[in-house]
Amino acid sequence: MSLSSMASVAEAARDIAAAADLPALEQIRLHWLGKKGILTQAMQQLGQLSPEARREAGQLLNVRKTEVQSLLQARRTALENARIQERMAGERVDVTLPGRRVALGSSHPIRQTLEWIEQYFSGLGFEISDGPEIEDDYHNFEALNIPEDHPARAMHDTFYFDQNRVLRTHTSPVQIRFLEAHQPPLRMIATGRVYRRDSDITHTPMFHQVEGLLLDEEASFADLRGLLEDFLQSFFARPDLPVRFRPSYFPFTEPSAEVDVGCVICGGSGCRVCKQSGWLEVLGCGMVHPAVLAGAGVDGEVFGGFAFGMGIERLTMLRYGVNDLRLFFENDLRFLKQFS
Ligand SMILES: [Zn+2]
Repeated sequence: MSLSSMASVAEAARDIAAAADLPALEQIRLHWLGKKGILTQAMQQLGQLSPEARREAGQLLNVRKTEVQSLLQARRTALENARIQERMAGERVDVTLPGRRVALGSSHPIRQTLEWIEQYFSGLGFEISDGPEIEDDYHNFEALNIPEDHPARAMHDTFYFDQNRVLRTHTSPVQIRFLEAHQPPLRMIATGRVYRRDSDITHTPMFHQVEGLLLDEEASFADLRGLLEDFLQSFFARPDLPVRFRPSYFPFTEPSAEVDVGCVICGGSGCRVCKQSGWLEVLGCGMVHPAVLAGAGVDGEVFGGFAFGMGIERLTMLRYGVNDLRLFFENDLRFLKQFS
């Protein structure tokens, strides 16, 4: 066996450089350095040489083996780096791409109006109260001066569960519940859902009301008027908004009034929304009826005051110029997103 017939490093170097990937490189390693590899076998054949030749050949083989190992290692590192580079190129994140927007919810326009009103009256010292939506006949009607045979009951289109239980037709019963639990002087508002058997373009079976009550030793109709004028002008963000009071009738107030504002759509010149009158009816109010005070155990000789109520859907429609009540209940996101 001659040394020149043993492996040449140049040949190994050529194979190694040509290895396309790590498995191919491993095959080359086995071919040269494996158990039956060329260099391994050459090592095993050293024993057939004379001691002189063996030493020389042994050293030479060791040098070659080391060279092949370092070539293999270098190629392995290069292939691994290339693989990492390739993977990074494939998974690269383009930070200049616009991000995916997260759709944020927003509160419903009805809720926004309720919260605005609660905030306004809280600022004036009104306590926010609440009551059940399933009411008894006494709180929904009787205690509000609407006895069983009273014609006002017919106006309410009530949902009855049985003789004594109803879905409340207004938020006024919360006044009575509040009076049962508090002593005057007091001021409260109640917001919430109310129900009536009524459904067309301008009515829905469920809608929202706000109710306010103020009792004090000196509370006059002028106070009521000043309060509601400021409230309406603030709500519509129009300090010069005309507000007028028309005599009206409610069983639980005396005297009673309905309150109009100058049409916020046409500015008073007349349009379809105000039915060409230039005015929009927005709420009802009055001085609390003596019978309501007496029923609640309040001394009407000492304390008096006023109450007011309004429909939230109507106020919201006028505030935002919404022309169809049903839009508030259809949950069409294209509509609701305009209020975020
Ligand atoms: Zn108008």
